[in-house]
Amino acid sequence: CGIVGYIGKRDVAPLLLEGLQRLEYRGYDSAGIAVTSPKTAGLKSVKAKGRVRDLEAKVPARFKGTTGIAHTRWATHGAPSDANAHPHLDAEGKVAVVHNGIIDNASDLRRKLEADGVAFLSETDTEVLVHLIARSQAPTLEEKVRETLRVIEGTYGIAVLHADFPDRIVVARNGSPVVLGIGEKEMFVASDIAALVTHTRQIVTLDDGEMATLKADDFRTYTTEGTRTTSEPTTVEWEA
Ligand code: GLU
Repeated sequence: CGIVGYIGKRDVAPLLLEGLQRLEYRGYDSAGIAVTSPKTAGLKSVKAKGRVRDLEAKVPARFKGTTGIAHTRWATHGAPSDANAHPHLDAEGKVAVVHNGIIDNASDLRRKLEADGVAFLSETDTEVLVHLIARSQAPTLEEKVRETLRVIEGTYGIAVLHADFPDRIVVARNGSPVVLGIGEKEMFVASDIAALVTHTRQIVTLDDGEMATLKADDFRTYTTEGTRTTSEPTTVEWEA
């Protein structure tokens, strides 16, 4: 349903919770957040069925990070619950994914992964993405995501965090909107510009079949095949 992400220098949790609140008008049944930083090892995540304020109440005081992704879920596969809320993480807690849309061949992929010994933690279609990315042998996060997108069928807007690549967020779009917000030494991503405009008016809208890498001071866009695409930010007018 809704995606928000940030990479920069600021304390990320309050920023993402505020972004989720701006997406509440779209409706949702649960929410969640995952954070990291270049200095801390690993990812931290919290998820909650219900409202963004229910999530906020569960976020510990020491939930520090400068990079993060967050989600409001509108369940399509698996009932609304804490476990089915996004972000989804692998068993090691290295990879976190938020996803809007529907993976059509998820049950097929899930069967294969389970036959290979992967234990699933939720009933969502989304979770196959996490395990495919976590198990990919490709050397870069971009290639791990690209390899995964090659085997899945369906619609997605996704944002991916990986503990081994804490300097970046990788995002992709196919049939579900993804918008980048370009700041000063900080970058934003969301499924809807309503979550961005209080921070920046410099916007890049991804096309279907496009991916992006966000770093604090840089971003680049490319096709899911890896060919660079041009992405001049445009300035949006918005009445707050
Ligand atoms: N299909 C995913 C799920 O059921 C994502 C739903 C959404 O777009 O919020 O968890």
